[in-house]
Amino acid sequence: MRLVLVGPPGAGKGTQAQYIASNLSIPKISTGDIFRANVSGGTELGKLAKTYMDRGDLVPDEVTIAMVRDRLSEDDAQDGFLLDGFPRNVAQAEILRDMLKDWGQALDVVLELVVDDDEVVRRLAGRRTCSQCGRIWHVEFDDKKDDKCDACGGALFQRDDDKEETVRHRLEVYQEQTAPLVSYYADEDILVGVDATGPVEEVTQRAMDAIRPYMD
Ligand SMILES: [Zn+2]
Repeated sequence: MRLVLVGPPGAGKGTQAQYIASNLSIPKISTGDIFRANVSGGTELGKLAKTYMDRGDLVPDEVTIAMVRDRLSEDDAQDGFLLDGFPRNVAQAEILRDMLKDWGQALDVVLELVVDDDEVVRRLAGRRTCSQCGRIWHVEFDDKKDDKCDACGGALFQRDDDKEETVRHRLEVYQEQTAPLVSYYADEDILVGVDATGPVEEVTQRAMDAIRPYMD
């Protein structure tokens, strides 16, 4: 099965990607992993990407696309894959479609994890990070009443990324980028949405039920 996973920050996408890929016995391919592998492996593309990252610039689309192409050509991806973090926009989706078409392949399904904005804010803005050991606690889910780490006693703080204002801004950026992508795949008739609230195992189960009809 060839599957793309999309979802907002705080939807638990990384965790679900892992479980769904393992349930389907396909590799989980995330752009983050591809980047790290290319940079640490010192590939030509990795070196090129690093020159941009070292300057604090975004890695250009064509470099990302070349890395994805390389990864998808590997043996373990021939019978299916779960892509996470790519495509990010309609232009990339069209490139992916053409790439797969050249290989006689096509996407089977695009799974969208659906969580409403207030729930994402509740999940992310409640996070507190330990300034000493880096462990993350949640004011609500861990019933954290003081601002000390239970593991090491270090002081807890809220990362800038987790501040409500920042989270809401990230959600806006996500919606702007992803809404056209989601409707592109809806037009292709391969989009399914899954409610990503509740326990992790239930979300995985819902996802598996939703994609089953798309298996060939
Ligand atoms: Zn700590």
